[in-house]
Amino acid sequence: ALLQRLFVSQGAVPLGFELFPPRSAELREALWTTVDRLSPVAEAGFSVTMGAGGSTRAGTHDTAVEVARRSGRPVTAHLTALGLSKDEALGAADALWGAGITRILALRGDRPRHAPEPLPAGFDHASDLVAALAARHDFEITVAAYPEKHPEAETLDGDIEHLKEKLDAGAKAAICQFVLDPAAYGRFLETCGRHGIDAPIVPGVMPLEGWTRVRSFAVANGTGVPDWLDRLFAKGEETPELMPYLSAVATVEHARRLIAYGAPWLHVYAMNRWPLPLALARLLGR
Ligand code: FAD
Repeated sequence: ALLQRLFVSQGAVPLGFELFPPRSAELREALWTTVDRLSPVAEAGFSVTMGAGGSTRAGTHDTAVEVARRSGRPVTAHLTALGLSKDEALGAADALWGAGITRILALRGDRPRHAPEPLPAGFDHASDLVAALAARHDFEITVAAYPEKHPEAETLDGDIEHLKEKLDAGAKAAICQFVLDPAAYGRFLETCGRHGIDAPIVPGVMPLEGWTRVRSFAVANGTGVPDWLDRLFAKGEETPELMPYLSAVATVEHARRLIAYGAPWLHVYAMNRWPLPLALARLLGR
């Protein structure tokens, strides 16, 4: 049945793309090219990250508004609580609402590397931010989920209970940290089901290029790294000409398996690049 689902009706699964606010005029131009290329296939819209500690608050706001204008697609702004007072976090949310950005990915965030001691008192957990946002405006709120457990969590079950609190507080769906083994996503869906979660759980898809960097993100997040990917990209280095092909095939195979496990849509970590994300969309029938 899994094999059958692998090859049936994959065209129906929408794609959304995660972007970050550009740090220079040159990078801004590159971002607009990416948005223009990906808009036609971005049925699930775009999302724009926020730097640790709210550091890119203005950049996230401005980028989200401009991406929405250029693309005509729905845009989700990430909002991180840590490093912002409650007033600052809700002020940022009000400004987004006022500018027509009605979708928020509500996050606790990570401690900024050069943070003042102590950080301003704000929302301690993403669930507190979700509840405050839901009471503030009629936002469409999403939250983060961790198929292989958040690095600070002691157990996956405990972490999933906190995910449930975020959904009960008013979030409509959860977007996952990326996995490199699709079965980890499948197991997570099952475990969430056992915890009584029925909201959409959307897998994060990391385009499989620049393996050294992807691998180091995975290790930092506690994401399992399958041996076959290590072997594939180690061999690939002997023949750099093959790399774009290996990356495209590995990424699309991975995505197909996530779809087969029941992905409602795919959240692609495009990281402001378009060629491999667009190739993925094309290979999935867009
Ligand atoms: P929470 O849901 O609050 O959970 C954090 C930890 O606290 C977990 O271990 C959880 O189990 C625990 N916990 C939760 N509630 C409680 C409670 N009531 N009592 C005790 N423990 C609790 N970071 C950025 O800085 N900017 C971004 O734009 C960004 N985008 C992201 C997008 C996605 C799709 C994902 C998956 C992550 C993203 N992150 C981003 C990373 C995220 O900020 C970090 O992983 C952060 O450490 C946790 O944020 P959270 O919202 O999951 O926190």
